[in-house]
Amino acid sequence: MPAMTITEKILARASGKAHVAPGENVWVNVDVLMTHDVCGPGTFGVFYKHFGKDAKVWDREKVVIIPDHYIFTKDAMANRNVDVLRDFVKQQDIKYFYDVGTANYKGVCHIALPEEGHTRPGEVLLGTDSHTCTAGAFGEFATGIGNTDAGFVLGTGKTWLKTPPTMRFVFHGNLPPYLMAKDLILAVIGDIGVDGATYRAMEFDGDGVYALNIEERMTLCNMAIEAGGKNGIIAADQVTLDYVNKRNAGNRPYNVVKSDPGAQFMFEKVYDVTKLEPVIAKPHSPDNKAFVSEVKGTKLDRAYIGSCTGGKLTDFRAAAELLNGKSVKIDTFVVPATTEVARGLDTETIGGKSLRDIFLSAGAKIGDASCAACLGGPSDTFGRLNTPISCISTTNRNFPGRMGHKEAQVFLASPLTVAASALAGTIADCRDLLV
Ligand code: SF4
Repeated sequence: MPAMTITEKILARASGKAHVAPGENVWVNVDVLMTHDVCGPGTFGVFYKHFGKDAKVWDREKVVIIPDHYIFTKDAMANRNVDVLRDFVKQQDIKYFYDVGTANYKGVCHIALPEEGHTRPGEVLLGTDSHTCTAGAFGEFATGIGNTDAGFVLGTGKTWLKTPPTMRFVFHGNLPPYLMAKDLILAVIGDIGVDGATYRAMEFDGDGVYALNIEERMTLCNMAIEAGGKNGIIAADQVTLDYVNKRNAGNRPYNVVKSDPGAQFMFEKVYDVTKLEPVIAKPHSPDNKAFVSEVKGTKLDRAYIGSCTGGKLTDFRAAAELLNGKSVKIDTFVVPATTEVARGLDTETIGGKSLRDIFLSAGAKIGDASCAACLGGPSDTFGRLNTPISCISTTNRNFPGRMGHKEAQVFLASPLTVAASALAGTIADCRDLLV
């Protein structure tokens, strides 16, 4: 039997085959399908149109519905979308629904999925959102699909997938205190371009990856799509299993899968993380890479710390270390990805002060758990760029208009770089504050 990569092995299992090769099309059984308020209504429309108005989803326990995008807004159409989710959940008796306005509300889907135990090694997780690849951090095949494909999955539990070839990115060494996973993935995207991994699996490996905590691994996989990747993936280790076993919804059995020795990678790049320096993506593309040292001093109007990429507790802990006891010079918005992360802002402390206190004392504004301004949204969205200002952000995309105004300038960076820049009012190198 030829050796396979982790991605190939998962797709082989999910399609009932002993072996699959890159380029091979397979029918895959789906373990979890996630949708949210932006794409859920369209997906349900496709489902009812093609399977009939009385159709039932293939498995009410494998569909996870998470309103998170346009949640805290007066926009009637956005609110209507959430109502459509509620109706569908009732009609279909969906087990996992994290409704806004209830104690069950969570926030950003890609962080809520693992927190609520819907990510497991070896599984196939599909979602109607391009950053579904985040869950590859748990050693599973996770990718975003469109509403039409998702409507088909709702009816059948299956999808038709072409097996991607795999690119391997190896990181060696322990991250210096001034670097985060965001710097690593911005370096990769800058090196290969926003189309450098189109329809390819991006496998992250090496002692530098396994030294990262699970949230940092999620940041790596989250931005695989920014290079065009079909999926990002990191084989599970004990860190992964400790996280998953504490949360596994429904205690479902799963299999840990790793790439075989001798598996074929169509590309390999090795990084020594001890030699990297803080990275930034300039407007208007995630691959418009510069080292922070090259753009230091660039004037900014706003700083934003949030999203599925940069709104986890690890991100806020890092930012709070720099902001502690100081004051920001520009408008600074802090948006926890989920309600669990929001609770962490109160329970996590530095020098006896909660992270929330540190942010508020520094002059930052803290929003409710959600996508908030990461995707712009209605004009009353917390943190949205409603005017053509310049913003440094821990989010994952900086295309024109992504965070609101089409002429706004968005720089993508790590929480450390964003916090240092919020204090300076210009792009700043966090190494100047950490040494
Ligand atoms: S936080 Fe941003 S990137 Fe993540 S799911 Fe929400 S809108 Fe998409």
